[in-house]
Amino acid sequence: MSKLLSAIEKAETIAIGGHVRPDGDCIGSCMGLFRYIKKNYRDKQVCVYVEEIPDAFDYLKEEDAFCEKPSYDLFISLDCGDEERLGDAQKVMEKTPYVLNIDHHITNTKFGNETVVKEASSTCEILYGLMEEEKLDAGIASALYTGIIHDTGVFKHSNTTKETMEIAGKLIAFGIPFGKIIDDSFYRKTYKQLQIMGRCLMESVRIMDGRCLFSIVRQNVMKLYEAKPSDLDGIIDEMRTTEGVEVAILLDEREPGEFKVSMRSNEIVDVSVIARYFGGGGHVRAAGCAIKGSAFDVINNLTGHIEKQLG
Ligand code: 5GP
Ligand code: MN
Repeated sequence: MSKLLSAIEKAETIAIGGHVRPDGDCIGSCMGLFRYIKKNYRDKQVCVYVEEIPDAFDYLKEEDAFCEKPSYDLFISLDCGDEERLGDAQKVMEKTPYVLNIDHHITNTKFGNETVVKEASSTCEILYGLMEEEKLDAGIASALYTGIIHDTGVFKHSNTTKETMEIAGKLIAFGIPFGKIIDDSFYRKTYKQLQIMGRCLMESVRIMDGRCLFSIVRQNVMKLYEAKPSDLDGIIDEMRTTEGVEVAILLDEREPGEFKVSMRSNEIVDVSVIARYFGGGGHVRAAGCAIKGSAFDVINNLTGHIEKQLG
């Protein structure tokens, strides 16, 4: 029996937590596991702790998932590299006697009583391996499929393996509307998102002989469009696929003089090392962190590290 299933069997009340600003893999893994426990362990009580789920994932929302119990026997952390990134759920975790940490970030700090941290396209791919296939249904499969397509950029990032494709194949065999899931949750943009993307791309700046492309989203622009951080999803991928670019950087000004940094690379630069240096984390080709200072200083600091790696 997997570590996940034996932990579930021993617990009566279970909390599931994901990282702040939840993305497709975080939402897919949290809701996939919620649905799995609800379907197969009817006597267990389970609550999900994630921040507001963007509308694009409406098909994964479950009214009864966002409950709150006074205490839990088991806390399962999903897709989260460190304790702080759990946000408000961190407090819930700290009160829970047993913590299981399931994640695929190489920068994972291995917190918790037990971990399943390994290389995989997504946390959803790991979860699939920990569940019993005959106990899945279309709802669970839709959630796990969502995480896989989001973290692989629809099966094109370098984290996509033969195993990823095989699992995705098994998931679509449950009769899920996979084309609609991809369009609705990954590709569809609101007009607002389209406009911000256009603006970011137009204002992007090439440096280091065009090998690095950066763009800055200022707070006044976010306010003008009444945009949420999730409205910026997808922008950095357009930047990364620009000809000649090795590293794309998007700075999102969260507070005056404080930026959320997103980095993507193509072939050479390990951006997880740079993100970790600045207190963040992530993967070799996709990572992030938060840095204080002027935008100019932030870019200067980051390019110093990129240049070192490019030699
Ligand atoms: P994104 O640029 O899309 O926000 O994040 C890219 C990857 O880096 C994701 O896997 C995300 O979980 C991770 N990441 C982004 N920001 C942080 C951060 O501040 N800390 C850690 N540990 N990981 C981050
Ligand atoms: Mn993930």
